[in-house]
Amino acid sequence: MVFALVACAPPPIVVPDALVVERTQRSAREVELCVLFQETDERPSWQGVADTAPGTWSYAIASIAVKHPAGLLIIDPAFGRSIADDLHHAGPVVMTVMGDERTKTPLVNVMEAAGMKPTDVRYAVLTHSHWDHTGALGDLPSARVLVARGELTWVSPFTGFFDHGVMTHHLKRAKENMFVFDFKGPAIDGFAGSFDVFGDGAVVAVPLPGHTPGSTAFLVRGKGGVTYLFSGDTTWTSRGVVLPAHKTLRAFDSDLEALSSSIGLLHAFQKNRPDVKVMPAHDGAALSALPQCAAP
Ligand SMILES: [Zn+2]
Repeated sequence: MVFALVACAPPPIVVPDALVVERTQRSAREVELCVLFQETDERPSWQGVADTAPGTWSYAIASIAVKHPAGLLIIDPAFGRSIADDLHHAGPVVMTVMGDERTKTPLVNVMEAAGMKPTDVRYAVLTHSHWDHTGALGDLPSARVLVARGELTWVSPFTGFFDHGVMTHHLKRAKENMFVFDFKGPAIDGFAGSFDVFGDGAVVAVPLPGHTPGSTAFLVRGKGGVTYLFSGDTTWTSRGVVLPAHKTLRAFDSDLEALSSSIGLLHAFQKNRPDVKVMPAHDGAALSALPQCAAP
């Protein structure tokens, strides 16, 4: 969730002393992946991370396309065809903070411009269920939607149009195709468990709770042996991982204590796995390390 109000001071970030670095991704299948930007902007750095250093935040809202032999997978299908209605019905606060639809492009339009068919998407996964990560779920009719059990449990009681940062109609539109998973696989690189989406190590979900209870990060093994970690909104920026530091605005973080632990874990992970590119969901500069999806 990109916007929020300033909340009380969070508990200190605790960086774990030791991290078991297993590099289990070494034997994983390599897959092509690319980024589908749906909104970009340049903002002052302090808006993205609780830090006074000058600089610019390359703000982005984007989805990731993973081209697996089992079918196309999208991480965080962000803006739906309904983006204008979503914004206008969510109320003036959302519109004031997020702006209107004119700066935003639905995922399916970006895909079609890149020569990709939305009906070809076979899988969709979520770093979490806030509205800016779920808008296009209903625009992907052939996609199985895989959701961490803790996240589905969290959203189940929600009923409002805009409830705890979740637009419940986004999830309802996909509920016939929704499948729950648990992190029953082995612990990896400090993460408490894992779920290997295809069983070949290409895309592995790991728990990263705090921003929401079921927040999930995805390790994806790219071509050339480069591994990426899509870390959702635990931090919005790479700077938040490097310092480490919380986001500037935290009212939509559901559990600040768990979030502090997850930011500390991400920081330790990045130090122990400098070979992995950590990709916070709203860091356009980090995401630009990926090729943009484009027509062949
Ligand atoms: Zn977000």
